[in-house]
Amino acid sequence: MNLAPFCGKGGFHAGDITQPFNLLGFTWATDGHIMVRVPEQEALPSAYVPRSDSIREVWTAYPEPGRACWSILPVDSVPKVKRVKCEACGGNGIYVDVPCGECDSKGSIPKPVMCGFGNRVFSNLYLRIMVENLPHPIEVATGYGSKEAPLPFRFPGGQGLVMPMRSDTIPQVKVM
Ligand SMILES: [Zn+2]
Repeated sequence: MNLAPFCGKGGFHAGDITQPFNLLGFTWATDGHIMVRVPEQEALPSAYVPRSDSIREVWTAYPEPGRACWSILPVDSVPKVKRVKCEACGGNGIYVDVPCGECDSKGSIPKPVMCGFGNRVFSNLYLRIMVENLPHPIEVATGYGSKEAPLPFRFPGGQGLVMPMRSDTIPQVKVM
């Protein structure tokens, strides 16, 4: 399974890790907003492995077996990613005379759609990463955890957590 879409791109926020890593018997990937784990894959030439207690602490948001109700994520209800012109470079991909860092020189950036999910709101950008890169069916525990807590999800061969938007975010579409 390709875990690269779940890795960070080298940003500056906490938890952004640019490669999968092996820890606690699993292979993990996270960018600080989404985290997946699968059974440990072969040894990884990971540049950085976080402390096991920090991963354990994040993972406490994932329910113990039998503690949550799981529903299949209705993948067709998750809006596809639309791109809009990058305002920083005017769509040229070049900022003054250097590659535009805002849009990665693409000239466009993805426009997030806020998706209502039970009591939480998620960006479709993360939901689409899940839908397009994980084996199906993907199941989510929408009723588990507080409004600010990450949403647990699982899929054949692995589990994950995805962070919601701020609790006062107004959803644009209702997914579940
Ligand atoms: Zn740009």
